[in-house]
Amino acid sequence: MEQKALIIIGSPGSGKGTQANLLSEKFGLYHLRSSRIVGRIIEKAEPGSFIEVEGKKYYFEEQKQLSESGKLWDPPFLTYFIEEKTRQLHKQGEGIVFDGAVRTMYEGERVIPLLKQLYGADNIKVIYLEITEDEAIFRNSHRRECELARHPVLYSQETVKLTKCQLDGSKLIERKDDSPEVIKVRLKEFKDRTMPLLKLFEKQGLIVDKINGSPSPANVFKSILKALGEK
Ligand SMILES: [Zn+2]
Repeated sequence: MEQKALIIIGSPGSGKGTQANLLSEKFGLYHLRSSRIVGRIIEKAEPGSFIEVEGKKYYFEEQKQLSESGKLWDPPFLTYFIEEKTRQLHKQGEGIVFDGAVRTMYEGERVIPLLKQLYGADNIKVIYLEITEDEAIFRNSHRRECELARHPVLYSQETVKLTKCQLDGSKLIERKDDSPEVIKVRLKEFKDRTMPLLKLFEKQGLIVDKINGSPSPANVFKSILKALGEK
C-alpha cells in the first residue's frame, strides 16, 4: 500500500495536535510533532552547540529563546530536522502526519518537493483547520497538558476540574507558550508566516481542504475523514 503524508495547518489552538493524533491512530501514521522532535534536541543540547545549514550557524540556545517568546524556529534550523526525520520514516515504510511542521515558505519550498519525491504528489494532503482569532486565544489560554507526556487536555465542563492526567496520573500544567503575551506573538507568526503557504501549496499543485475547526474534536475529525474520502 502506498503511504500517505498528511499536513495539518492551523493557528495556535486550532486542534492540530488532537487531529494529528486521531489521524495517526486511524491510519497508522507516524505523528511528527515538530515541538517534540526539535524540542527534545534543544533540551539535550550542550551550551554553545549549533548546527550549520547553508553556511550559517544556528545555535540551539537562540532557537530555544525564539520558541519561548512565541516565534517560530528559524526555518533552515527546523527544516534540517524535518527533512532528516522524513527521510528516515520513509525508509522505514511509514506514512506521516505532520503537526506543527511546514509552517513557513522556506520549509514549504523544501519539504513539499521532498515529500513529492518520496511519497508521490497524490499521496500528500493538506488540511487547514480554521478557527477565529478569539477562539484561538480562548483555547490557548484555557488548555493544559500533563507534565509527564505532554498529553493535551482541552478545556470543557468535564475537564475543568481535573488536576491529573487521566492516562498516566501526572500533574496537569499550563504550557509555557500559552501566556497571553506569547499567544499574541504566536498568532501573529501564524498570520504573517504560515498563511502565505496556502497559496504556495496551490502553486505546488496540492489540494488544501479547509475544515471548520470550531466543532468538537470528534466532529472535526469526521469532516477531515470526509475530505480525505474516508469513512
Ligand atoms: Zn499524560
